[in-house]
Amino acid sequence: MNRPIAANLEIRTTKDGDRIACRACGHPLAPAGDAWKRHAVLRELSMNGAGGKAYTGAQEALLRQFACPGCGVLLDSEMALPGEPFLDDIVRA
Ligand SMILES: [Zn+2]
Repeated sequence: MNRPIAANLEIRTTKDGDRIACRACGHPLAPAGDAWKRHAVLRELSMNGAGGKAYTGAQEALLRQFACPGCGVLLDSEMALPGEPFLDDIVRA
């Protein structure tokens, strides 16, 4: 049984237990209850100049994008300063 937890993430019940997986292609990322972002493809972009003059905050602020390693669909994004830990959403089955 697949249970959606976000636009492009779901919990899939497999023979190895519940897994957080990509909804688009089914690629398993991590066991349910574990942090999944470290298993995604990370892209960090500077927020400096993003949206023209819309962003005027800290010059070093980053937009992090987390994509599926199986199909490339965007799974989540967050703003952070360099070196900050990921904002992990722990989802339990
Ligand atoms: Zn995928």
